Amino acid sequence: MKLESINPATGELIESFEEISDADLEVALQRAQQTFSRYRGTSFAERSGWLLGAAQILENERDKWARLMTQEMGKTYKAGAAEAQKCAWACRYFAENGVRFLADEAIRTDADESYVRHLPLGPILAVMPWNFPFWQVVRFAAPALMAGNVGLLKHASNVSRCALALQEIFRRAGFPEGAFQTLLMSSGRVAPVIADERVKAITLTGSDAAGSKIAEQAGKRIKKTVMELGGADPFIVLPSADLDAAVRTAIAARNINNGQSCIAAKRFIVHARVYDEFERRMVEGLARLKVGDPMRDETDVGPLATAQILETVERQVDASVQAGARLLTGGKRLDRPGNFYQVSALAQIPHDTPAFREEVFGPVASLFKVGDLDEAIELANASVYGLASSVWTNNEEERRRCIDELEAGLTFINAMVVSDPRLPFGGVKRSGYGRELAHHGIREFVNIKTVSITEHPDGGGSDTE
Ligand code: NAP
Repeated sequence: MKLESINPATGELIESFEEISDADLEVALQRAQQTFSRYRGTSFAERSGWLLGAAQILENERDKWARLMTQEMGKTYKAGAAEAQKCAWACRYFAENGVRFLADEAIRTDADESYVRHLPLGPILAVMPWNFPFWQVVRFAAPALMAGNVGLLKHASNVSRCALALQEIFRRAGFPEGAFQTLLMSSGRVAPVIADERVKAITLTGSDAAGSKIAEQAGKRIKKTVMELGGADPFIVLPSADLDAAVRTAIAARNINNGQSCIAAKRFIVHARVYDEFERRMVEGLARLKVGDPMRDETDVGPLATAQILETVERQVDASVQAGARLLTGGKRLDRPGNFYQVSALAQIPHDTPAFREEVFGPVASLFKVGDLDEAIELANASVYGLASSVWTNNEEERRRCIDELEAGLTFINAMVVSDPRLPFGGVKRSGYGRELAHHGIREFVNIKTVSITEHPDGGGSDTE
C-alpha cells in the first residue's frame, strides 16, 4: 500500500511513499535496540545539547516547516509557524529541565542509603496523528530522548513528509543515528511492532477507537502505554463572566487548527441569563471568519485535513439537523476544490445526535442553554470524553466547584485551554490516561528504580514482603 500526501486545499497529490518493507522494518528495530544500548550511556549534558540543536533547527527554519505542514494537512501557514516555534520551546524546556526532573531522589529508610533512580526503558513506539504533525511528535520525543530512550515514529498516513522531516531534524541536531526513526507504515502494520520484544512501551495520540485497539495489543504483552485521545471539551459561560472576552475566546477556541484540535472547545454550555446575548455575538463572530487558502495571511480557517474528515463532519451536522438541532450558521461544504467546510454552529441539539454524542473534528460549535451551575456541570460531564474544560466566571464558589467536579484532565478558568511544556497534559475517561509534558510526562517512560544500600548486612530478613 502507498501512503499519499494530498494537499487538502486543492485535492492534488503532492507525493506518494512506499511503505517500509518487512526487511527494512527489521533493520530499523535492530538499529533502535543497538542504538539504545549505547545511547542510554550518554550524559544528560550530551542529550541536552542535541535537543538544543533541534530547537535551533526548528526555530531557524520555521517557515519551511510551516509550509510543509500547510501543504500536507491544511493548517494555516501562520499556525504552522507558531507550531514549529512551540516545538523549539518544548525541546529547550526539556533540555534545560530534564536533568532536574530525572535526578536521583534520596529517601530516608532503615538502610544506609536509599534513593530512586530514573532509568530509560528502551525503544518507544509513538503512534501519532496528523492534526499537529510536528507538535504531537516533539512533545513525545523531547522528553523521551532526554530520558535516554530512543524513538520509533509511526505517523499518520497522510503526513509522511512531516514524519521524514522530523527524523531529519533530530539527525541534523546531532542525535546518534537510530535515536529517532520514522517508520512509514499504515495502521495495519502496527500490531507486530507493538508485539516485538525490542519495543518497550507505546504512546498514542489519536482517536479513542485506535486507543482501544493499541492498548489491547500492548496489554497482551504487558507493555506500558500512554493514551492521548479525543475530546468534546465543554466551555462553560456563567453570568458573572466577562462576556466580551468569553465570546472572543469561544470563537478562537472552536476554530483553532481549522476546528481539528483535541482540546478545541466543542460544547458551549451557557447560562440562560446570558445565553441569547452569547449566541447572537458568537454567531456574528463566526460568520466573520474567513475560510480559504491556508497560505494566505488573512485566512482564519483552512480546509479539513482529508476528504474523509470532510465527509464525516458533513454527516454529523446533517444527521444532527435532521434529528432536530437548529443550524445557527454554516452547515455546508464550500463549492470549490479542496476539503473546505463553512464555519458552523448548532443549538438545541437532541441528546441522541452525533453533535451531542461524538467528537466533531471540524469548525462546528455546539451551543447549549442551561438554567444553573448544577445543570452546566451535569451536561459537561455527560460525555464519554474528559480531556479539557474552560470555565468563564468571576465567582469563587463556582470556580471551586468546576475545578473539583468537572471530569477532565485540565480545567482553565477565564482562558482558552492550551498545551504548555510546563503543564502536564492528558485526559480521563475515553480521552485516555497518562500525561505528557512537565515532569509528569518525562517520568512516563522511565524505570522508577528503587535502590537500597546496606553497608554492613547482619543477614537478618523480614517477615513481610
Ligand atoms: P486516528 O485515526 O486514531 O489516527 C491516529 C494515529 O493512529 C495514526 O497514526 C493512525 O494511522 C493510527 N491508527 C489508527 N488506527 C489504528 C490501529 N487500529 N492500529 C494502529 N494504529 C492506528 O486519529 P486521527 O483521526 O488521525 O486524529 C484525530 C483524533 O486524535 C481525534 O480524536 C483527536 O481528538 C485526537 N487527538 C488527541 C490528542 C490528545 O492529546 N489527547 C491530540 C491530538 C489529537 P493511519 O493514519 O495510518 O490510520
